[in-house]
Amino acid sequence: MACNLRCKMCYFTDKDYVKTLKGQFKEDEINQVAKTIFNRALKLQIGCGTEPTLYKNLVKIVELGKAYAVSYISITTNANLLTK
Ligand code: SF4
Repeated sequence: MACNLRCKMCYFTDKDYVKTLKGQFKEDEINQVAKTIFNRALKLQIGCGTEPTLYKNLVKIVELGKAYAVSYISITTNANLLTK
């Protein structure tokens, strides 16, 4: 849970709330989440209310979605870190 922007209406402007957002899933934890629920998922929604492009293993999550044949994989991003 992180974002590189601080949109006025968003909880990321609340410094006390942001302080509570610590840690990241480790790779083995991501694999466990995928193994447990991706085979039953109709959709894998990455981001929305956070910025997924800040997560260095973003590609890995998409790859896991593909590996478990999730039929719809979607990313919501503020696009500030996207390049051509
Ligand atoms: S999560 Fe979305 S709405 Fe909130 S600060 Fe980031 S870009 Fe803005």
